[in-house]
Amino acid sequence: MAIERTLSIIKPDAVAKNVIGKIYDRFESAGLKIVASRMAHLSQNEAEQFYGVHKDRPFFKDLVNFMISGPVMIQVLQGEGAIAKNRDLMGATDPKKAEKGTIRADFADSIDANAVHGSDAPETAAVEVAFFFPGMNVFNR
Ligand code: UDP
Repeated sequence: MAIERTLSIIKPDAVAKNVIGKIYDRFESAGLKIVASRMAHLSQNEAEQFYGVHKDRPFFKDLVNFMISGPVMIQVLQGEGAIAKNRDLMGATDPKKAEKGTIRADFADSIDANAVHGSDAPETAAVEVAFFFPGMNVFNR
């Protein structure tokens, strides 16, 4: 399988719970490398742009408000099949439906406050990585 990069965000709920390190451990234990990372408090404009594909969905406003409610930790994960691997580690969008042992099953409270974001395909991964880490801010290691 090809080496890929994917964008991951630890959302405000998980940052507030102080579990950044525990979530990073899931990534590293699964063989994914953190090749860029930064903490940010997103502006409304950034959150609206980032989740633009969902702008017509009923949950869009709440999603944006949640994403700007506190700082987030943003990282690029690199490794074999990184996009699908990260989605497996995350678990289903609704933590009640997420498989045992996944990040969302263990750290998320609800479908809106669901601990993590992860790109869902190569095209979105490329756009999302460039959105938060333009230019040379991602490392090869
Ligand atoms: N979301 C929500 N209510 C819903 C569906 C989605 O609040 O009914 C939020 C949730 O935080 C989710 C995000 O919108 O993580 C993006 O939705 P998507 O379907 O892309 O899920 P994901 O890829 O994050 O699992």
